Amino acid sequence: MDSFNPMEIRVRTGHFIGGAYVDEGQRRIEVARPSDNVAYSSVPVADAAMVDRAVENARAAFRTSGWPSMAPRERARILRRFADLIESDARTLAPLEAIGSTRPVRDVFVGDVPFTAEGIRFYAEFADKAGGEVAATNHDHLGLTIAEPYGVVAAITPWNFPLVMASWKIGPALAAGNAVVLKPSEMTPFSALRLAELAIAAGVPPGIFNVIQGDGSTTGDALVRHHGVGKVTFTGSTSTGAAIMAACAESGVKPVTLELGGKSPQVVFADASGLDEAARRVATAISSNAGQVCVAGSRLLVERSIAERFVDRIERLFSELRAGPTWRSGTTLPPIISERQAQRIESIVARSVAEGGAVVRCGAARADVDLPGAYYLPTILDVASEQCCAVREEIFGPVLTVQTFDSEEEAFQLAGHPDYGLAAGVHTADLGRALRFARRIEAGTVWVNRYGRSADFIIPTGGYKGSGIGKDLGRDAFEANLRHKSVLIDISK
Ligand code: NAP
Repeated sequence: MDSFNPMEIRVRTGHFIGGAYVDEGQRRIEVARPSDNVAYSSVPVADAAMVDRAVENARAAFRTSGWPSMAPRERARILRRFADLIESDARTLAPLEAIGSTRPVRDVFVGDVPFTAEGIRFYAEFADKAGGEVAATNHDHLGLTIAEPYGVVAAITPWNFPLVMASWKIGPALAAGNAVVLKPSEMTPFSALRLAELAIAAGVPPGIFNVIQGDGSTTGDALVRHHGVGKVTFTGSTSTGAAIMAACAESGVKPVTLELGGKSPQVVFADASGLDEAARRVATAISSNAGQVCVAGSRLLVERSIAERFVDRIERLFSELRAGPTWRSGTTLPPIISERQAQRIESIVARSVAEGGAVVRCGAARADVDLPGAYYLPTILDVASEQCCAVREEIFGPVLTVQTFDSEEEAFQLAGHPDYGLAAGVHTADLGRALRFARRIEAGTVWVNRYGRSADFIIPTGGYKGSGIGKDLGRDAFEANLRHKSVLIDISK
């Protein structure tokens, strides 16, 4: 699927609670298409009472539906069916995702939808592999640890990859036997509703997977503070993550997984094999989804001897990108999610030039598109000082800063970030150097001679420092949706 007509897309709106749509609430939020800024629907805002209804529904389903106590292989079968339905629904899901987000429909169709389905499938396979342990106790006792679900998991997700981010939360939570209340971003609320419909069709009991709509300060806050929630899992910005952590502490102490922002370096040494290929990787890592990616490789550190040639290649690759709406065939530079976010990008770039000594090599302007969305040209900023705000702040747009280095030590020093530690890339033919880098850098993920996640769901992802706590993906995410009970039995008589 390469294109679609946005005027033909109909969305169902509301909350999805207890297996049915609930479209109630006095306040509504208009939802606009980032590609042309046209409002195409609205969602109700769940207030504290509606959040309570969703959580209580989920708690009741957890207690009575048999989901946590079901034979684990049966739960796995249902989740595999859910994954199959997602895959076969790609023609509905892809335009639904693309219309309101920044994801070009072709990328959603061939990438995000199959990836979402496979993520659910991956965790389905864990459902019957969990267990506890027999502890090494004195022989007149039997000590057991039993893995159990939390009950209701509250999941809050961002707008940049709505389907994929949702699957990273609901897959492990459901497979571990929990009920879920998911709050997607108010800017991209609809694909999650379709997921909930498909879950019911697959046999997930009503009330086990619920979706509530609303903004963060009303709905999100009420959700994370709800006493019926056993665990919170969040993906979004570092500042919101911090607020959620505080809310969890204030409302009775809940475990929380936080996948947060980043300012990830890509370090290119002169010995990197295939500089053309390395330049392509670096360019893609910051221009994909117009830079609206948590692990965007936004800081290029390049060895001085190759810097000019290398950055020229990136600039050439940037010039080949085609800005356009998510529904148009051939779009490779999608819109920025909102006018507000585009203005934030402009402001950081302007401050970097005015106060941080940054020099614009290309971009730093809106892209010319025949629609009123906010499109921003891929931008390269030559930067001399680490204090420049474009180097320090997460921009969440297609802005690449370039710094040069002369030695391995200098590259290591520049690569670290005082606040973030989400991901890092190193491009070199020297394996020893790559491993030294991987050991020294404070980052949750290090990519060597590549940049970006593979389709191996088993590799966890998560941040160091302000980039997060805990992991999505991998065995870790499944384990994080379970708590462990210790049982000690006297067998002396
Ligand atoms: P955001 O503003 O932090 O919002 C994320 C979600 O949190 C949204 O659903 C938002 O709701 C909700 N929210 C906001 N305030 C809240 C509060 N006080 N309590 C509870 N929920 C609240 O982030 P975003 O702009 O959507 O996404 C971009 C950010 O996500 C970037 O920083 C990016 O790096 C990060 N991200 C990280 C990863 C990762 O794996 N580490 C992956 C993707 C994105 P509303 O928007 O509806 O108000």
